[in-house]
Amino acid sequence: MSRVYNFSAGPAVLPEEVLKEAADEMLDYKGTGMSVMEMSHRSKAYDTIIKEAEADLRELMNIPDNYKVMFLQGGASQQFAMIPMNLMKNKKAAYIVTGQWAKKAYQEAQIYGEAVKVASSEDETFSYIPDCSDLDIPEDADYVYICENNTIYGTKFKTLPNTKGHILVADVSSCFLSEPVDVSKYGVIYGGVQKNIGPAGVVIVIMREDLITEDTLPGTPTMLKYKTHADADSLYNTPPAYGIYICGKVFKWLKKMGGLEVMKQRNEEKAKILYDFLDQSKMFKGTVRKEDRSLMNVPFVTGDKDLDAKFVKEAEAAGFVNLKGHRTVGGMRASIYNAMPKEGVEKLVEFMKKFEEEN
Ligand SMILES: *Cc1c(COP(=O)(O)O)cnc(C)c1O
Repeated sequence: MSRVYNFSAGPAVLPEEVLKEAADEMLDYKGTGMSVMEMSHRSKAYDTIIKEAEADLRELMNIPDNYKVMFLQGGASQQFAMIPMNLMKNKKAAYIVTGQWAKKAYQEAQIYGEAVKVASSEDETFSYIPDCSDLDIPEDADYVYICENNTIYGTKFKTLPNTKGHILVADVSSCFLSEPVDVSKYGVIYGGVQKNIGPAGVVIVIMREDLITEDTLPGTPTMLKYKTHADADSLYNTPPAYGIYICGKVFKWLKKMGGLEVMKQRNEEKAKILYDFLDQSKMFKGTVRKEDRSLMNVPFVTGDKDLDAKFVKEAEAAGFVNLKGHRTVGGMRASIYNAMPKEGVEKLVEFMKKFEEEN
């Protein structure tokens, strides 16, 4: 067996320890004689799995008691519709468009009401985060929406927007659990877990309780009402049971590592290795305004398409895989989530140095 350094933006690298544990428990989960995949979601064993997962996540993120945690399906993209269906009471919401995912959410919201684009960085290919300290937010907007870490472009909000008293809704798919957050500043935090937490198929929604009501837009399906899932503790119907089990293992791994403060330090160290190299390289350049750089997704280019392609190809042969940039940006992107060891980033930089010398 040989493992590669996987720089995929998602589905992405998971902690090896977690994968090994899951492998050990595959045929017989803790004496039940079955795999978690084969187990009733109403069983005692599974009840413990999902309750522990929630408790560990609450502990890691210091989630206040007046917030619900929901494990849902449909990916982050389903939230693009669920958010307006459940929260657009005045049929108006403010969107800050800092990349493809924010743009998709903004476009989806237009189906349900008036989505107002209050800021955007599309003028410079989403390479920066706009100043959001004094935006023109409509008084009657139901919420302000952001994508906190832009997976494709490699930007991150370092300060949250001034919402002027409106509820903040954030897609944190690609920065989930990468550093501590003050949950109380948000109305809703959500993310697909396949970037930084677990296998595709689970989306975690953390929502302030008073926002979870029966008062949804007419025609909202039962399955797309937060209340349905909140009232049933994510067991209204069969949840993505195996995926939640793996997320639970990752939460335990994060706790063992020392929690989110330690992860933040580790992630800063790892990102610095790569950014420092990019800043002095004559061949490779980062594509993002420095103060807005993501700790998780690092896009870079050589400025020459053929050379980019050669780099990606040779990197892959050397065991550094999935470094090709998103099709809309080109170049390269190294996603260095929680589970990417520091050694992986160090070795990538060594490889980049050698490539620069030889080309
Ligand atoms: C990947 C990603 C999505 C889309 O996730 P799906 O689960 O595939 O729908 C949405 N937002 C962000 C920030 C992402 O990185």
